[in-house]
Parts: sequence; structure tokens; C-alpha cells
Amino acid sequence: MSTGRPRIAVHKFASCDGCQLAFLNAGEALLTLAQRADIVHFAEAGWNDPLAQADIAFVEGSISTAHDVERIRAVRESAKYLVTIGACATAGGLQALRNGIGESASWVADLYASPQYIDSLPESRPISAHVKVDLELWGCPVTSEQVLAATASLLNGTAPANPDEPVCVECKRRGHACVLVTQNAPCMGPVTRTGCGALCPGTGRACYGCFGPAELPNAASMAKHFEQAGLAKRDIARRFLFTTSTAQPFADIGRRYEEQND
Ligand code: SF4
Ligand code: SF4
Repeated sequence: MSTGRPRIAVHKFASCDGCQLAFLNAGEALLTLAQRADIVHFAEAGWNDPLAQADIAFVEGSISTAHDVERIRAVRESAKYLVTIGACATAGGLQALRNGIGESASWVADLYASPQYIDSLPESRPISAHVKVDLELWGCPVTSEQVLAATASLLNGTAPANPDEPVCVECKRRGHACVLVTQNAPCMGPVTRTGCGALCPGTGRACYGCFGPAELPNAASMAKHFEQAGLAKRDIARRFLFTTSTAQPFADIGRRYEEQND
């Protein structure tokens, strides 16, 4: 029976479930959302109707199997807006680290006792590689603030804010000491989009790029800087080919350094 309220679904594909926690960790805000909208599918929270029609379908995780491909097409058909949440859904996530290695490589038998039961696609790809995505929320994981702000904007018919300035800007706003300058740490902040509140530099650690590329990132110069700072080429490749390895220009720069492999 229709209540006339907006309908929200949260779907999971290949992922760790961490981004769904952005909803569960929202506390009272989640209760308020449940009063104002119908949550029609969110298996981790107890609502289980994966084919339900939704105004907004949030999607966590990347596409790793043929069954995933069928499922994401069904989600797309059932949803007015499809929003990816997190690094896996938006740029492949950790499971995309296997891309380029190939299905038949010996690592499958090394990892699984019965590799004949492994039935995955050759590559794990982001949602946008298979269906149209209306909004991408970056982060590993995304925050409650991101998902709630996107929900409010879409339901109110306004364009969601999705900042793409570099982490450095947030770092400066908060007065953090720059770890790249003070420690010569290989910080990806100059080329990574903000949204985390400069979490890692705030604790004296280098950003590793989990929010993906900022707007117009000069990734080639960033890589050159790491090279001049003494980082091995394979380590530079790993800086760019981590949780957002399918995002450009991280993918191209990372592969270029991976091929040089010193
Ligand atoms: S610590 Fe990293 S993110 Fe912060 S200002 Fe320095 S380079 Fe930028
Ligand atoms: S500082 Fe970088 S690695 Fe750390 S949470 Fe933010 S975007 Fe992710």
C-alpha cells in the first residue's frame, strides 16, 4: 500500500558494508528519515525487498559477478535517482586491485581451497561502468553527513552539494600542520577531493586518496613530486591505484608508474 511518502532503498554489492553504516550511524537523523520517508529496502537494517520501486536507490559496492550485472540493471530500472555511496561503488574499491591480473592467474588457487566455485567477472568495476548514475558520493567510507545531505537535496528537488576541492583546502581551514612539508610524507591531499574534514593529516598522517580525485587534479606533478622525494615507482603506483583505482586521472598515472616498476 502506498503511503505517498518518498521511497528510499539501500542496495549492497561487493563491499565491506562500511558505507551502509553511514545511515545506521546517523542516529536520530535516521529515525527522522524513517518518519518522513518509506525505507523500502535496506537488508542490513531489516527491510528486504530488493525489487521495490524507489525514488532514491543508494548503492554500495562494485560489480564483480554476472549476477551483480543483472541486479544493478534491475536497481536502475526500479529507481528514479541512483546514487553511489563510497569508493567501491564509485571507483572500484579494494576489490578492483585485482583488475589487470586476470582470472586464470594462480592467485585464485592460492587464495581459495576450491577455486572451481569462483565465478567472478575478469574485473571488478564501478557502478557507472554498467548503468547511468545520477550522483556519486565519494569516500571510504562515506559519512552520515554526505548521505543525509544528498537525501535532503534530492527529496527537496535541489542540486546536491558535492564538494570537489582538494583535501589541502580543508587542512588549511582547520590549521593542520602539512605532513608533506613537515615530514616529507607522500600525502595525496593536493589531488584528492575533500569531504572527510582532512581526517588523516589531522592525526599527523598522509592522505592516501580515499575520496578520489579532486577537481582538475595535477596528478602527473604529484607523482613527479613523490619521485623527487625518493619514493619508488611501484610505491607511487600504489598511491594512485588504491581504493579509487578506476578513477581518472589516478588510473592512468598509476598504471604508467606500475609499468615502469623500478
Ligand atoms: S598535509 Fe596533505 S592535505 Fe594537508 S596541506 Fe599538506 S599536502 Fe595538503
Ligand atoms: S585524508 Fe585522505 S585518506 Fe584520509 S580520510 Fe581523508 S580523503 Fe581519505
